Amino acid sequence: MKDQLVKAMALDGRVRFYIDRTTDLVQEAMDRFDLPNGSGDALGRVLSIASIMGSMLKSEQEMLTINILGTGPLGSIVVDAYPNGNVRGFVANPKLAPEDVHLPVSELIGLPGTLIVTKDLQMEDNWSGTVELQNGEIGQDFAYYFTLSEQTPTAVSVGVKIDENGVVQAAGALVLQMMPDATDAEISMCEHVLSGLKPMTELIEHYDDSSLDLLAEDLFEDTVVLENNPIAFKCTCSKEKTAGLLRTVSQGHLKEMIEEDHGADVTCNFCNETYHFSEDELKEILAETEKNLAETEELESHVAEDSPNPAA
Ligand SMILES: [Zn+2]
Repeated sequence: MKDQLVKAMALDGRVRFYIDRTTDLVQEAMDRFDLPNGSGDALGRVLSIASIMGSMLKSEQEMLTINILGTGPLGSIVVDAYPNGNVRGFVANPKLAPEDVHLPVSELIGLPGTLIVTKDLQMEDNWSGTVELQNGEIGQDFAYYFTLSEQTPTAVSVGVKIDENGVVQAAGALVLQMMPDATDAEISMCEHVLSGLKPMTELIEHYDDSSLDLLAEDLFEDTVVLENNPIAFKCTCSKEKTAGLLRTVSQGHLKEMIEEDHGADVTCNFCNETYHFSEDELKEILAETEKNLAETEELESHVAEDSPNPAA
């Protein structure tokens, strides 16, 4: 099976659930940042849930950012998610000290901590929800977030299994939400299904030769699969966008890069891709910023001349 995300419903539409397989995209994150297993596990769990949250967004222009700020050695975890289920993200301090290598994810993240979700819904202000981390193992923290911040009773199961060589064996997540009109009997039905659920990585491994649709159909008698889409670790950066960033750097700093370093390497936080800019390319960017500055100054002087003088 390739990485994919399934949306489904059951109990006559009064429960909605999402399952994703993220084995390959967690591996890509680990390879891009050369992550040790503990960091890969923590980031992988957040990526797996983020992909599902991205797919819950309503329009193609929306996106969301997850920030997990703990007090453990990892520092923070930042993940962006998009409506097509694609994700990108990083760990602030991914390299682990020898004594931290075998710590569980909850201690790598470190309590107390917060989980912040910021949604760019293409409105004037972004929407943001913050909750305290519950146990730092990610699944329960997100279940608490959904229930408290989004007022939707939610169960979350997530897992990442990595072997001793740093190869991701299985990764994925399940997010199950009760609709407001669910009856008590349906809620206890869901609790029954969840209590019998195997760990997420075991499920992903078990169904890896078939499909996630089958896993979804095995959860409830009346499961209806709504969608099944491919997902990936995908960054939105490019050399062009990075050049745009360089145009916002101070001219003095640009001159330093040209005269002292004779070029610049700019690395994207979110995917670790490095873009090289030659001395000539930097000179071009500097010339553009000088031109923009001159135009802005000219515009400002016009505005000043045109301003009515209140004393006159
Ligand atoms: Zn990038």
